[in-house]
Amino acid sequence: MKFYSTNNTESRVSFKDAVFNSMPQDKGLYMPVSIPRLDDKFINNLDSYSLPEIAFHVAQNLLGDDIPADGLQAIIHDAINFYAPIVQLEEDVFVLELFHGPSLAFKDFGARFMSRIMSYFLQEGEKQLDVLVATSGDTGGAVALGFLGVPNTRVTILFPKGKVSDIQELQLTTNGQNIRALEIDGTFDDCQALVKRAFTDAELNAKYRLTSANSINIARLIPQTFYYFNAYAQALKLGKDKIVFSVPSGNFGNIGAGIMAWKMGLPVQHFIAATNANDTVPQFLKTGIYEAKPSVATLSNAMDVGNPSNWMRIADMFKENPSLLNHEISGYSFNDEETSAAIKAIYDRYKYVACPHTAIAWQALKDYQQDQHLANTAGIFLSTAHPCKFPDVFPAEIAEHIEIPAQVADLQQKEKQVTALSKDFEAFKDYLLRNA
Ligand SMILES: *Cc1c(COP(=O)(O)O)cnc(C)c1O
Repeated sequence: MKFYSTNNTESRVSFKDAVFNSMPQDKGLYMPVSIPRLDDKFINNLDSYSLPEIAFHVAQNLLGDDIPADGLQAIIHDAINFYAPIVQLEEDVFVLELFHGPSLAFKDFGARFMSRIMSYFLQEGEKQLDVLVATSGDTGGAVALGFLGVPNTRVTILFPKGKVSDIQELQLTTNGQNIRALEIDGTFDDCQALVKRAFTDAELNAKYRLTSANSINIARLIPQTFYYFNAYAQALKLGKDKIVFSVPSGNFGNIGAGIMAWKMGLPVQHFIAATNANDTVPQFLKTGIYEAKPSVATLSNAMDVGNPSNWMRIADMFKENPSLLNHEISGYSFNDEETSAAIKAIYDRYKYVACPHTAIAWQALKDYQQDQHLANTAGIFLSTAHPCKFPDVFPAEIAEHIEIPAQVADLQQKEKQVTALSKDFEAFKDYLLRNA
């Protein structure tokens, strides 16, 4: 499969180049030149396949012969080695739990697949890949754990001192091996500025092969299509074949992957884009005007994005028929007060603890089901993270019911390894040069 830039659909690059460049020079985003339609036999019999089998079939159709079947098989078995179950909460309300991977967030799908794809392409004696990531919490953990032990790669994570939760900090700092954690005396924006500057620094680029492995990489999007097919397969087993997905959205990669799955033939009835107060997309769907805004801080901070990068990809998938967009996607947004109320309502009704991002998707689904008077259509809302990652947002009477997964209990036994740095670029550069 070749890939083009959304800003120049005549351009062509290989999958390998799309992965290593991350972003085209023209500031568009890479997309497959064509989105293949999967055969009906596969779609109609989805419920007879396992998640890795589904992943392999979908990836092979998307990537063609970029990676031979046995290589792709190995990558998928290594990367997608945890479950993504749907859990029924009501007759027509299901939660798709995407937090059973090592960092307890859906970003594990993208990070684990991307790291192995990069390592695969690096095999022929190429220079070690140095991944630099700035994180406000969730991305760093998924990238660190995604690359942990992956040959020929090294990850340097920058996180703002005192601004990530305890569990997130443990996930960033207890890895060792090919993962280094830098605690920056500054904000997330300071961390991001350091990383951006490193990418433009001639001396660093001469010495290291730097990459950002960031969320707009096409190798992170592709594996996120897998769990939509797999959720649909599980719903089929329960006799549900009309499905609406509600997706908690920030940078719109997750829902973008769902739409890609739909374009590949997954018969989804509708998508709901659920956001916090950063409501650029819900506003656009309502008014037709796309107005990027500075982000505002909310309880669901992994979705605090005022100008979602992946919206370009979604627009690209509707470029032949833009009027279909409003037909396929509805937007809902909720403020922090509504988010807290949703967390409480979910707990009261089902004795289920949802993280703030997940709670927003549930509320959007409930509102949509009420607005549309839907009959015989099952709603699946995506749970993007385990609630234990956000301990501060829950009232004590709910927090005490959060089960701590084994991955976290293990982390508490491990030793923290972290280097403290100021937000000064020269200090950061000096650290990188001295620690080859
Ligand atoms: C990253 C993240 C999101 C937002 O996903 P996008 O793909 O950026 O829309 C939602 N919830 C959690 C917990 C996240 O970490």
